[in-house]
Amino acid sequence: MLKKLFQSFRPPVRGTHHKRTTPEVINSGQHSLQRGQFSRHAVSIVERLQNAGYQAYLVGGCVRDQLLGITPKDFDVATSATPEQVRAEFRNARIIGRRFKLVHIHFGREIIEVATFRANHPESEEENSHTSSRNESGRILRDNVYGTLEEDAQRRDFTINALYYDPVSERILDYANGVHDIRNRLIRLIGDPTQRYQEDPVRMLRAVRFAAKLNFGIEKHTVQPIRQLAPMLREIPAARLFEESLKLFLSGQAADTFEMLVDLELFDPLFPASAEALEEHPTYTHTLISQALINTDLRVKQGKPVTPAFLFAAMLWPALPGRALRLQSRGMPPIPAMNEAAHELIAEQCQRIAIPKRFTMPIREIWDMQERLPRRSGKRADLLLDNPRFRAGYDFLLLRESAGEETDGLGQWWTDYQDCNDSERRDMIRELGSRDEGAGAGPRKRKRSPSKRKRADSAAGE
Ligand code: ATP
Ligand code: MG
Repeated sequence: MLKKLFQSFRPPVRGTHHKRTTPEVINSGQHSLQRGQFSRHAVSIVERLQNAGYQAYLVGGCVRDQLLGITPKDFDVATSATPEQVRAEFRNARIIGRRFKLVHIHFGREIIEVATFRANHPESEEENSHTSSRNESGRILRDNVYGTLEEDAQRRDFTINALYYDPVSERILDYANGVHDIRNRLIRLIGDPTQRYQEDPVRMLRAVRFAAKLNFGIEKHTVQPIRQLAPMLREIPAARLFEESLKLFLSGQAADTFEMLVDLELFDPLFPASAEALEEHPTYTHTLISQALINTDLRVKQGKPVTPAFLFAAMLWPALPGRALRLQSRGMPPIPAMNEAAHELIAEQCQRIAIPKRFTMPIREIWDMQERLPRRSGKRADLLLDNPRFRAGYDFLLLRESAGEETDGLGQWWTDYQDCNDSERRDMIRELGSRDEGAGAGPRKRKRSPSKRKRADSAAGE
């Protein structure tokens, strides 16, 4: 069987030397892992499956992260048991079928994901014949082909994600020289990189995500095809890209991730309008987005909540002025032009990244708030302060200022206003009134919308 499998593999090509059908076995004592570091629920699932006669291992991110001294986000189990067989062993198990059929085993709030060994998705002819030789043992379930442990290792993306830990024997099985790459801090695709990206272009994003998260380099053959294949991301369903983009930007390494995405030309297929703004107004756009991401990373590290809406609002903001101006040049008045531009921009973005309504609404609110923050006279300032979106709108204003937008000290004014007591606030409004002829208006009102655009442009134009 092994021999047959081996023969059906592609002949070795550049970069595939790490593909192997027999694992390197790393015994306990030769590695730093200890059973006690893993979720006891995950360990007990492995034990139970093994006792029932199946193969079962801890796999993927949890093994990789523990080897690096990082606390894993979750624990995944890989097994030779089919989902139905797994479910039969556990009362608290539920079969879920997103892209593939998986079993979730619930222990209070902890969920352990148990996946049946899979073989690679049949894509090329060559792989088809390769797969058909396995169909006797594995069965096809939608695009899910069950396979052997060896095949399961080969279909995984990166070598460092293909390590199997048996908590019973405390041995690691390494089919792809993953331990070597962990030592050398390298993200390396298993197999031929171009082919693996063609099978699933999202792997290009995953390479960037893991490089940023682990502070690893991307091995040169793994990085080499990315720029050329980046446009393939346009074919990925927008809903999947939404999930991936949250992982990219909410993991605490968003600023580095952004730099890498731009460098590898992966940013363009994800955020085409923002990428265009980045070309037109590089310094302003780059500063605004990276500042937003630096703030996000800080909040993540402090355990503070972050809203994807703020993030997307920042990503898209630099693309807004140009569009609004274009609509104005066709005769639309400034405010409707701004609203229409916002609407169009979000609708277009959702073609690539399906941002759910619960986030697109607040994006609009954050942007609308930018129109309202300059208008403070009478009761307006206090009404704005009471607005549930005030905080996000104010933070966004500070962000714009930090990217060089000229707002005539508006951010500082709002900072002071929040710090003041009632009578001081009345004074601030009065002062404003005398300066702005009472209506929170004067020159500011007349110029408000167009000037914001002009400012953004000139700040960006350098
Ligand atoms: P994280 O810490 O982000 O959860 P992870 O490595 O566990 O990292 P997951 O997305 O949870 O990443 O995937 C679990 C495992 O499944 C990976 O380690 C990898 O082996 C495999 N995998 C996930 N996505 C792919 C893919 N697109 N192609 C090939 N293998 C994949
Ligand atoms: Mg995981």
